[in-house]
Amino acid sequence: MEQRLFGTNGVRGVINQDMSAQLALDVGKAIGSFMGGKVAIATDSRTSADMLRCAVSAGLMSVGVEVLDLGMLPTPAIQYYVKNSGVKGGVMITASHNPPEFNGIKCIDYDGTEMSRNKEQLIEKIFFSKDFVQRSWRSVGATRQVTGVGSSYINAVKRLVDITAIEDAKLTVVLDCANGAGSVTSPVLLDMLGVRAITLNANPQGKFPGHESEPTPDHLKDLVATVKATGADLGVAHDGDADRTIFVDDKGNYLYGDKSLALVAKYMVKERGGGTVVTPVSTSSCVEDVVKAEGGNVVYTRVGSPVVARQMIELNAVFGGEENGGLIFPEHQYCRDAAMTMAKVLEIVAKEGKLSKLMSAIPNYALDKRRIEASDEIKEQVLEDLLVRFQEEKVDTTDGVKVYFDNGWALVRPSGTEPIFRIYSEAKTKEAAKRIGDRCEKELREAIEGSKAA
Ligand code: MG
Repeated sequence: MEQRLFGTNGVRGVINQDMSAQLALDVGKAIGSFMGGKVAIATDSRTSADMLRCAVSAGLMSVGVEVLDLGMLPTPAIQYYVKNSGVKGGVMITASHNPPEFNGIKCIDYDGTEMSRNKEQLIEKIFFSKDFVQRSWRSVGATRQVTGVGSSYINAVKRLVDITAIEDAKLTVVLDCANGAGSVTSPVLLDMLGVRAITLNANPQGKFPGHESEPTPDHLKDLVATVKATGADLGVAHDGDADRTIFVDDKGNYLYGDKSLALVAKYMVKERGGGTVVTPVSTSSCVEDVVKAEGGNVVYTRVGSPVVARQMIELNAVFGGEENGGLIFPEHQYCRDAAMTMAKVLEIVAKEGKLSKLMSAIPNYALDKRRIEASDEIKEQVLEDLLVRFQEEKVDTTDGVKVYFDNGWALVRPSGTEPIFRIYSEAKTKEAAKRIGDRCEKELREAIEGSKAA
């Protein structure tokens, strides 16, 4: 098997266990050897931010790279800077939604997109062979601080929404930044948009004392309670590096990401008079339902935001995103963008009315999720077997095996990080989703047994 350094979201681990300063130094050397020139670096708010920034920067400088230190910023803010500044690329020090003891290193390509797997493989090759660029004392790099990047990022967001409509609606918003990187930009953006902002956990604190940074219903109880107590128009929550946004409606209901994805997709297609929306095969059918009703079409990709972003570029899509609250607006940039998502939903609420009312127009589906153990070696064989087992049905093999039934669909997908398959089944009712899940689990278990015997 190929040696891997980067997972689905960069290199990640627990600090001073599997993510050490020594590792970060070598990752910095490998990235610098690959990128060369000038490279931007930024961090989220974790306690280990400075440690990793310094180690990665030392590695970059040792191979001759000039480091531009942007400070603490949301991931989409460094992406915006990289895209517009002509540097060779960027490095974001973050573990996104993981607990505070984790941190990670994520590469950004010269155009501001998340780095493609192909390019990551080239960096991995340098890392494992230790074939770093060699520099003498005369040509090592230096670090320069760059300020004001957060401001230009939120100014760009502001220019892309109908600020008059938002101001006139006199909205009250409760914002929860999870003590993460969104703290440095989103409260200021809300002020610029003329809304009344009530903030929670909106100061950067690396131990995440408010709650862990994955915006799950469990972690957002204070947000829900505050929306209810203040009668706010909506609640907004970011993950730790503020590339994703999750909403709470005016009645205090937590909204799952597929619902807000569908709402914004519907609005974008309506606004553009049609167009293509790109999303992974795992996304709820509620998105396709509303997009089609507005005269648009949906194109499905493999799971993962870099894949969605690249497909959007290729198809000149009007919108795209994932059901975890990672929404991509092509008029701004081809990456998940929490501030842009927040501003766009404020515009939609300002123009179209209460969020709870808008949500009632999005179709409801029930989801059944399961995990079934299977060793990595048999996964490919099992998928082939499933294709035979479901040959009577309509099947999509974009990522794993997605099977369409009369009353719903199921996606059987091997995990890239664990020895398991995941089964997602969706239908109009809970019972129907469970029946689809039962059927797929039975076929999957038989396929696994068959592969073991072979
Ligand atoms: Mg994130």
